[in-house]
Amino acid sequence: MSQSKTSDIKPYWQNYIDGQWVDGGAGRLTVDNPATGEALAEQAMADRADVDRAVQAAKACHLSRELSDLRPVERGRMVQKMGHYLLEHQDEIANLLCLEAGKPLWEAHIEVAGAARYFEYYGNQAETVEGRSIPLGGRYLDFTVHEPYGVSGQIIPWNYPLEMTARSLSAGLATGNACVVKTPELDPLTNYYMAKAAEFAGMPQGAVNILCGYGHEAGDALTIHNDVNQVVFTGSVATGMAIAGNAAKHVVPCVLELGGKSAAIVYPDADLDNLEQSIRWGIYFNAGQVCSALSRLIVHESIRDEVVERAAAVAARLDVGPGMERDAFGDNMGAMVSAKQRDRAEAMCRQAEAEGARLATGGHALNRPGYFLQPTVFDGVTPDMTIAQDEVFGPVLSVLSFKDEAEAIAIANGTEYGLVGGVFTSDVERAMEAAQRLRAGQIFVNEWFAGGVETPFGGYGKSGYGREKGREALWNYVQTKNIAIARIAGTHPGRA
Ligand code: NAD
Repeated sequence: MSQSKTSDIKPYWQNYIDGQWVDGGAGRLTVDNPATGEALAEQAMADRADVDRAVQAAKACHLSRELSDLRPVERGRMVQKMGHYLLEHQDEIANLLCLEAGKPLWEAHIEVAGAARYFEYYGNQAETVEGRSIPLGGRYLDFTVHEPYGVSGQIIPWNYPLEMTARSLSAGLATGNACVVKTPELDPLTNYYMAKAAEFAGMPQGAVNILCGYGHEAGDALTIHNDVNQVVFTGSVATGMAIAGNAAKHVVPCVLELGGKSAAIVYPDADLDNLEQSIRWGIYFNAGQVCSALSRLIVHESIRDEVVERAAAVAARLDVGPGMERDAFGDNMGAMVSAKQRDRAEAMCRQAEAEGARLATGGHALNRPGYFLQPTVFDGVTPDMTIAQDEVFGPVLSVLSFKDEAEAIAIANGTEYGLVGGVFTSDVERAMEAAQRLRAGQIFVNEWFAGGVETPFGGYGKSGYGREKGREALWNYVQTKNIAIARIAGTHPGRA
């Protein structure tokens, strides 16, 4: 893997609207490097007028039918080509992503490859969106078609800025929608390559618009816009509620992929070496800034001490520091995305201690420049504590204990979220019971994050609604039209 210096980064990055690279009406924002806290580059910031121009460009593209009228296999190939572009530029994109988001370079490479995978998968799916015919007797021919909504407005979070754009954009384009993407303020730079990928693939003008702007300005303008026909949002519950309110004003559907406080139940018959792997990935990948993070372990009381010891050892093994110096897959972790996010997570650690949780390891910011938090494990957490209820969105694991199965399920289901849930056991009956009773959109048995682009992802409860990933996501981007064709009596030669 080649590495780049901060000084190699282009100093200023524009938005992409209607096929043109443009400045922003809201000026420029300095994007910093979470590993050092120093300025990295400037990003153009869109204002409401810029958002309107992007929406009008997308609307014009939709009305031209240039994208939606293509034979799906051709549209699918263009979508796939966007992924090829990302892979061809993987080194430079991963370098930039590492610098702007703070993640280890090898994690940044995984994200670029993951983003490309979405374009491969949904490119392939383009020609599978088929309707059905409905028998109505001899006088009628009736069938359904699935049409794109038109303009898809997509608001992207900062934890996986490239992959989350890829997730929504690939499905939106594969189904024939023109898209306006609002990138995150904290790490918008890599989304430049999405626009380049669209150009490379020959996407029609206006089909892909990529702009950064402030959430309260550009984000609000996009989700309240009269000509946006569908909204996709990934981010916090509070913002999701505001966006759902905006969409409701225009009776526009939205997909909300919000946060989580996801739990794994650990039975005494679990393979604890295997569990360690899930702890390493589940809560310390991307410094825990993952909506489906394994943030709670609900452990049978008979093995609690051993599990806490093992979890603390997993955390303590991680070598924490600048992502650019961590280019090889291994036991290491990068920075959190911002001082604000790190300080919030650290404050939640202090509150956990004040409420009686025991710090098994970590819990403090690193005494060095950049936004680092130690990988953390809390023991003795009880369901009523704030740390057991609220999403930290950082590398902080809470260990709770249970006596019997009913209690374990009740604790797991006892938050307002319901994104994912898991169970670790060698007993298939226990696994099935937990899988059926956990209130969450996806269940992991014996491996956290099991699944892939192919498997539907989304929440129960305040974790949101709608599904991204998998074939299910396609239905968020299309609306069903029923076409009933009637014979006019007497016109058929075989009839009187
Ligand atoms: P956020 O929800 O405020 O921001 C996410 C995106 O929404 C950004 O692009 C932002 O510009 C935009 N946005 C903000 N206000 C908006 C508005 N009124 N209208 C339209 N768009 C708006 O998240 P954040 O403040 O960056 O992070 C705070 C918390 O969000 C985190 O601690 C975490 O809990 C959660 N989060 C979750 C995910 C996830 O994958 N589910 C991702 C990022 C953040």
